[in-house]
Amino acid sequence: MNFNRSAKKKMSFERFLSYEYAGDYINQTTPYAEQIEQAAQAIREADYVLLGAGAGMSTAAGAEYGGKFFEENFAEFQKIYGKGPYMQDMYSAGFYPFPDQESKWGLWSHLALLAGADLDVTQLHKTLLDALKGKKLFLLSTNADHQFEKAGLPVEQIFATQGSYKRIQCARGCHPKTYDAVELFRQMEQERVNGKIPTELVPKCPVCGGPMAMNLRVDDHFVQDEDWHAAEDRFSRFLSECMDGKTVLLELGVGFNTPTIIRFPFEKLAREHKNITLIRLSRSKAMVPASFGADMAKSITDLAEKLNNTEASEP
Ligand SMILES: [Zn+2]
Repeated sequence: MNFNRSAKKKMSFERFLSYEYAGDYINQTTPYAEQIEQAAQAIREADYVLLGAGAGMSTAAGAEYGGKFFEENFAEFQKIYGKGPYMQDMYSAGFYPFPDQESKWGLWSHLALLAGADLDVTQLHKTLLDALKGKKLFLLSTNADHQFEKAGLPVEQIFATQGSYKRIQCARGCHPKTYDAVELFRQMEQERVNGKIPTELVPKCPVCGGPMAMNLRVDDHFVQDEDWHAAEDRFSRFLSECMDGKTVLLELGVGFNTPTIIRFPFEKLAREHKNITLIRLSRSKAMVPASFGADMAKSITDLAEKLNNTEASEP
């Protein structure tokens, strides 16, 4: 009989979240090559790898949101609304106070396709997944762009907590359902004139008749549908398993926008469990032991190379 095991509470997503700011941040002094070797060693020894991906992962892989990319792809909207504080990058553009639904969906359908369905920057993701072959793997992600899925990670191993650039929901969240809108977005993209879509393409909530919104966590009306809860459940189960095995938390480009979802919980887990190691890849916000304040794409490529070479040299 194992009292310990039976007494243990299931590690739910809610219990996993942490609001604790780590007090033990340090500046990295270990040389880069040594850090890569340490990280590769920890991954070699691990049975479980829990990936935690933030916006920095997509950026490192090549996704663009502002600058020349925005100027080129949103000139039509800059002409209508002026550049102002909003028409600077894809993130800010979404917050423009659009005068009507036709204008709102004119921009959002364009943005959602560029940031989601049509975004394809998966080479770095593939390199990483290849190097982690043989590990029990799960991804916790705040990205809505589906890049790990496109790179071949099964959806059953993904929990994207903040929504999807492919789906829409009731703007008031009146019922717990979301809807695939990629085909609708393509139609909007085809029929847009001067930033506006035709009125008959404006989506309406099938339950309350009100306006629809992107299924992205921007306010309290964010809808967590059946698939979201199923993913949460699989994540919780994986996490409970991790607690008993050798586990690496591999944090990828997570900043301080929503640190309570990946950053703080990962730090807490690593602090409280000897069998759990945190490896943090971040361009500028590393600051804990075994973390990389280095170019993300380079760290991932170097790490993958180390792991692949070990495999090749084994008899
Ligand atoms: Zn509704």
